[in-house]
Amino acid sequence: MKTKIFALRALHAVSFTALALAACQASENDEAESSDTTDVFNPIERSSTIEGTVGAGGAELRDMLFNPKAKCTVPAGTKLAIGKFQDGFYKTTRPASCTAFGDEAAWVFARSVSIPSSSYRGLVEVRTNTSLAVNMNYAGNKIFCTFGKCLITSPLYAQNRCFLRDTVARALNTAAFFLQRDIGASAKLRALDCYRPAYVQERMWALVPNPTWVARLDRRAGNYSKHNRGHAIDVSIEKGGTQLDFGSQFDEFTRRSAYGAEGLTDTQRANRELLRSVMERAGFAPYDGEWWHFSWQGSPAPLDLPL
Ligand SMILES: [Zn+2]
Repeated sequence: MKTKIFALRALHAVSFTALALAACQASENDEAESSDTTDVFNPIERSSTIEGTVGAGGAELRDMLFNPKAKCTVPAGTKLAIGKFQDGFYKTTRPASCTAFGDEAAWVFARSVSIPSSSYRGLVEVRTNTSLAVNMNYAGNKIFCTFGKCLITSPLYAQNRCFLRDTVARALNTAAFFLQRDIGASAKLRALDCYRPAYVQERMWALVPNPTWVARLDRRAGNYSKHNRGHAIDVSIEKGGTQLDFGSQFDEFTRRSAYGAEGLTDTQRANRELLRSVMERAGFAPYDGEWWHFSWQGSPAPLDLPL
């Protein structure tokens, strides 16, 4: 295991030196697990759909080509197998009652479907509470923004929901408790990204094929981000609903994203130190390339459950 750790550190060191531009989504990757590709590869393939229920008003299904003439409406309460989210729609399986189009695969408007937490097997949902706010950046339309210019402007997640492995979720709430004990009940941890489906990692790469900024997921080599395993979280601190000044935006692709960046004000440095302190005391490992990224020890199987 030590070699893996050293290799990982070396990787970080190399990317740090090579990248004057920071951000290192690439370096968020965990160690390669090329020796057990079957272990890693199979679970993700088996669990890539979950069950959702069509809400009041029913749902309209489309065919794969979004042919406007090929529509099919299903009533409220219909159970659908939910696959990846893209452009406002979830991929699903065409119900037998839908004869408007012949494709086996169909797409359903994501907002027409609700998915219970219990569908996310292996993960638990972290909900907004008095010490923690869930504010998933990739459920919005300002993604990978630097100096006001965003590389992605439509949501990568349909839902603003934070899922993590059970132990990690409990540790996050512990960190939120430490934060309030340190600086008072008006402060909250703000979860910016938690579990991230593997297909989203691939989509990020398709949209931004730049290894400086986005990690290229390799299913055959078993190379994933710890976010795909529910073992990493991107987090900041807010007070009275406003994020503290950390000296860079989340996912900003500049050297200011690095924890120890030069040129920070005393306040910005203190805010980073506070965040790192509460997360470390709860058992998380920080990442020097990004002040917001924290991970948990161990590498359970990656997942492709849609968000
Ligand atoms: Zn992260």
